[in-house]
Amino acid sequence: MLKLQNISKTYHAKKSAPVKALNDINLSFNNKGMVFILGKSGSGKSTLLNIIGGLDQYDQGDIIIKNKSTKAFKQRDFDSYRNTLVGFVFQEYNLLDDLSVFENIRLALDLQGLTVDQKEVEHILLDVDLEGYGDRRINELSGGQKQRVAIARALVKKPEIIMADEPTGALDSETGTQVLNILKKLSETRL
Ligand code: ADP
Ligand code: MG
Repeated sequence: MLKLQNISKTYHAKKSAPVKALNDINLSFNNKGMVFILGKSGSGKSTLLNIIGGLDQYDQGDIIIKNKSTKAFKQRDFDSYRNTLVGFVFQEYNLLDDLSVFENIRLALDLQGLTVDQKEVEHILLDVDLEGYGDRRINELSGGQKQRVAIARALVKKPEIIMADEPTGALDSETGTQVLNILKKLSETRL
């Protein structure tokens, strides 16, 4: 499904020396299953995920997506990859606090001009153990529940890949385990 070949990335910040965040990375990913990327803070994990997810660009090497080189990808090719194939989950949830669970999930599709019906959202909420929470506002939820809404929001796009950057980083170990168990279950049918 996904293959990284000799990927390198250097950041050039204005007032400091260049930082080589990724140095010649080679990795292959299957169509499904769970993959963990471990490393100390600053070792390049987020950079790697952002590049794999098409949120940032590599300097050297190539990423092969479904047997297609991304070397010739235009911005719009990355946009469509990101919008259709990948769902993102972040440590700080990135939800809109004043909106309901349902509205947050719906927004993920609104932005692409797509609609979703209540039934489908209810089905997804069942998958993340949040049955009946559709009308709750985000600021009335616990951290673990918020992260499960974020997973639901990723799922509504029916992505083949879910990328999660420290998804349990803000959670206590018990709710972190719940979130990991949901991701584990989802990884039976996707990457
Ligand atoms: P991790 O997620 O493993 O903590 P990052 O990928 O965030 O690591 O960072 C890798 C390195 O790249 C670090 O040295 C960090 O300071 C640097 N870095 C990350 N993002 C930027 C950026 N936008 N501009 C300049 N340097 C960056
Ligand atoms: Mg990081």
